[in-house]
Amino acid sequence: MSNPAVFFDRDNTLNFDPGYLSDPNLVNLFEGVGEGIAKLRNDFNFKIIVISNQSGISRGYFTESDVLAVNEKINLILKMQFNTEIDAFYFCPFHPDFSTEEESKCRKPSPLLVFKAANDLDIDLRKSYFVGDSISDIECGINANLKTVLVNYKNDLGKIISLKNRNKTPNFIAQNFLNVCNLIIEDFTGGKSLVK
Ligand SMILES: [Mg+2]
Repeated sequence: MSNPAVFFDRDNTLNFDPGYLSDPNLVNLFEGVGEGIAKLRNDFNFKIIVISNQSGISRGYFTESDVLAVNEKINLILKMQFNTEIDAFYFCPFHPDFSTEEESKCRKPSPLLVFKAANDLDIDLRKSYFVGDSISDIECGINANLKTVLVNYKNDLGKIISLKNRNKTPNFIAQNFLNVCNLIIEDFTGGKSLVK
């Protein structure tokens, strides 16, 4: 049987982003991320998948192994402190200014990496969600036919208006990570269970 999944953006969704984060020592997860992921994965059997644009690679700011080191650090924190983990990380290293158009097709808002992950991990997209802080995250989720959650930590109304104007209104908007997980679990279970 196919698995439900929650697809997450990485930077500024799971972790604070100082700008082109590449140093694992600077990994700083937002409040509630560990608890929320543990709840989704351990209690509700969601696969947890990260889909990230990492154009810093094609821009020459850092290497693929830097991205892998940051991803590993995130999973180390989740394992050691929260007894959970991200099942898979996917990232697009390309950018149209530095790469070919063909290469850049993996970049969000393209749903390409979502479809690749769904195939790799036997995901049922009809039961799955996409969570992110950017317009391109919500567009990616919509392009993959997923329900979408905008994390809006800074209560940025401009972002909401911009999405609405593009006719890309997310299904849910949350201002903290545990709310994100609550909304997903409530929707998934038809309102029968909430994160305590
Ligand atoms: Mg982001």
